[in-house]
Amino acid sequence: MAGGRPVSTETKTTCPYCGVGCGVIARIDDNGTVSVKGDPDHPANFGRLCSKGSALAETIDLDGRVLYPQIDGRRADWDEALDLVASRFSETIAEHGPDSVAFYVSGQLLTEDYYVANKLMKGFIGSANIDTNSRLCMSSSVAGHRRAFGADTVPGTYEDIELADLVILTGSNLAWCHPVIYQRLAAAKAARPSMKVVVIDPRRTMTADIADLHLAIRPDGDVALFMGLLAHLAGSTVIDQNYIGTHTNGFAEAFAAASALSIAELMELTGLPSMQLRQFFRLFEETEKVVTCYSQGVNQSASGTDKVNAILNCHLATARIGRPGMGPFSLTGQPNAMGGREVGGLANMLAAHMAIENPEDCDRVQRFWQSPDIARKSGLKAVDMFRAVADGTIKALWIMATNPVVSMPDADAVAAAIAACPFVVVSDILTDTDTAKFAHVLLPSLGWSEKDGTVTNSERRISRQRGYLPAPGDAKADWWQLAEVGRRMGFEGAFSFGSATEVFVEHAALSAFENDGSRDFDIGAYRRIDETTYETLEPFQWPQPEGAQVQTTRFFADGGFFHPDRKARFIAVSAPVSDRTSAEFPLTLNTGRIRDQWHTMTRTGKSARLSAHIAEPFAEIHPRDAMELGIASAGLVEIESPYGKAVVRALVTERQARGSLFVPMHWNDQFAAKARIDAVVAPVTDPFSGQPASKNVAVTARRLKVASYGFAVSAAKPQGLDTAYWALAKADGGWRLELAFDAAPESWTQWCRTHFGIPDHIEPLGYADAQTGDLRLAFFDGDRLLAAFFLARQPVAVARNWAIEQLTVRHAELAKRFAVVAGRPGAGRMDPGATVCSCFSVGVNQIVAAVRGGCHSVEAVGKELNAGTNCGSCRAEIRGIIDGCLAAAAE
Ligand code: SF4
Repeated sequence: MAGGRPVSTETKTTCPYCGVGCGVIARIDDNGTVSVKGDPDHPANFGRLCSKGSALAETIDLDGRVLYPQIDGRRADWDEALDLVASRFSETIAEHGPDSVAFYVSGQLLTEDYYVANKLMKGFIGSANIDTNSRLCMSSSVAGHRRAFGADTVPGTYEDIELADLVILTGSNLAWCHPVIYQRLAAAKAARPSMKVVVIDPRRTMTADIADLHLAIRPDGDVALFMGLLAHLAGSTVIDQNYIGTHTNGFAEAFAAASALSIAELMELTGLPSMQLRQFFRLFEETEKVVTCYSQGVNQSASGTDKVNAILNCHLATARIGRPGMGPFSLTGQPNAMGGREVGGLANMLAAHMAIENPEDCDRVQRFWQSPDIARKSGLKAVDMFRAVADGTIKALWIMATNPVVSMPDADAVAAAIAACPFVVVSDILTDTDTAKFAHVLLPSLGWSEKDGTVTNSERRISRQRGYLPAPGDAKADWWQLAEVGRRMGFEGAFSFGSATEVFVEHAALSAFENDGSRDFDIGAYRRIDETTYETLEPFQWPQPEGAQVQTTRFFADGGFFHPDRKARFIAVSAPVSDRTSAEFPLTLNTGRIRDQWHTMTRTGKSARLSAHIAEPFAEIHPRDAMELGIASAGLVEIESPYGKAVVRALVTERQARGSLFVPMHWNDQFAAKARIDAVVAPVTDPFSGQPASKNVAVTARRLKVASYGFAVSAAKPQGLDTAYWALAKADGGWRLELAFDAAPESWTQWCRTHFGIPDHIEPLGYADAQTGDLRLAFFDGDRLLAAFFLARQPVAVARNWAIEQLTVRHAELAKRFAVVAGRPGAGRMDPGATVCSCFSVGVNQIVAAVRGGCHSVEAVGKELNAGTNCGSCRAEIRGIIDGCLAAAAE
């Protein structure tokens, strides 16, 4: 049973990764095998999935799951664990007040979980100390929306991106971070080549490959760029004085601030030549149907809120908002960041898009909840919350569905704070996360394939997530855990929810309570639904007021903003000085996502297919910076800031701007020796949103000198690694491991036995060359490879994907075993090279061979190798490889 429902063979649910919110059909075959495919009827993706969504079935095993409650590492039953949580929170509040406790929750929670967490903290504990990892993701967009619109409203829909004649992507690597939106955009552009795409990003990302114009802007130069655009528009005929006069306030001040910047200052602040600035301004001016998409590159900034408002100013000034193919568009990172916003999961918001700073809203929510108390001021935002944990102000902390020891800035300090906190509760699905190890009480939560509820995607579309597998062990829904604690804290009546449906219905009722169109978020049409209707709920966009026929899914074409005067506000912003570097820390670190991993890898790290794309942490560095620092391609680089250090592989590439580094934020202590890049990120935040500036961090970098480099494949998971560098990744049939050593152990054979679990009676096949330092060892049990280890003084040259394949093939003949020792396939067999297409496991060498054989388009490569023909996430990379081969051939 899942959520009280019999397990069915085919279930419509929603992908749990990014904010696109793709519909998924999960199927259980007769033999119990689970497979997933895109839901052709879901309006977010119409059947498409990206590589992560396609691999969902590979991430649902029970390996590493928390199966029962634990107290100080020992098994407990739910009653004991929940009683302890409730009593420790109650005692702490009684002794130190409501602000001495906190919840740190997540955009991974379902709306129902979020709703109960927010109700308990703000309405019954009486503190607003509930914040979420969405603070790190898009809180600047929330703050910008609220300043301009009077509410946290996303005006448009995904369809607008397809209908636009100009799509501006700023601070968004859409191809990797919102791949299905990218696919929709790429398809629209292919069908209508006159459509223009502008990418604004310091890096030349894969997204830039479809751009008509790539503006390699300085970090945080976006405010100045959109100020310049506003000033340009104000001098053109496309400024809409009627809309400005009827529906907005503050234009004169915003224009005065924007027009104060000279073209020379704009060039300096943006790092862009005047020709590119003018080209961009003209494109915007001349194209009525323009959508500006923005994501973490805008939000994760000390000026993130001003960036958002600088963008909104331009759309308001031209009335290009809320009409088909027009508008600003915030793309959320997480699957339910929007749902969290709807329930007030941020410390500075109240439920149902009401304002915590508005006494009438506070009274309204308190009346609705009939609560004894209500928080009437903002709580601590994420960075400040963990500072308060560190200084002892917060003495009891409940962390749900997130891994702040990896994802928070100044992550080592966050780890120390949590370790020192007197009482820490963690609700999660996995035992071995970097955060769960600090839990006094560890509570087993339901995973994606088991839980029931709703999520809201970036276009305000609410979809069901449906459980289709039974709950493992004693795992329970997060909303249930919270409601049980609420009851045990003495709030029986308010937390008597019996199902996710009951929670959703109350959430819908609150959205409609005393609303009458005064608030944007209204799903009152669902406030009386029963279990059956909830079970069969189709995806829908809000608003959906009760009894009203919804005419449009867009906001603000005719004004109707949510400030008291129903007018929007232009915000007069000022361009920040963006350079944070110094002589000691001369480089700018930018952190972000890669195509095939999600957040801190706790789920995607389980998939061999996803791990094959990029198997270790890396730093993109410009060739000239690398040369000046003595860093060779594939060497190791140590990155340091005043807050911490990380060690990653160097990826030397001209895609990276000079003076900058890009490092992915995914790797944690379970997968690498020292690659938690957020330990390096400074806890600098935006003054309005409190969102950390994760993309403009002053660092230094140096070559990490090591005695030798290694690569290994092992059938058993390597244990006890403690080398200068290691990075572990799942592979078919076992694991792959990158290594580096400061010194040689007494015996390499013994080192392998210890770390790869090789029995003593198995002798290795191998060779060692004392002169070159090369060493190769392979351990076979009969015809089965247990482990192979390759060592060299330089980064090891081994056909890695071929070596990994050897874990799953038989080696009856000696020649095959010697090929393993050699680390390359014998004559007549090709090393596929690094994986490009995860769906069909196609490597770069295969694609290069196909291009040389005459396949000069992505379609031709797809026909030859299947690469890029399933989820399409790799099509930009394939295009890049083709271009590279053709350019090289032309030289
Ligand atoms: Fe999931 Fe990919 Fe869709 Fe995002 S784009 S929701 S990760 S399938």
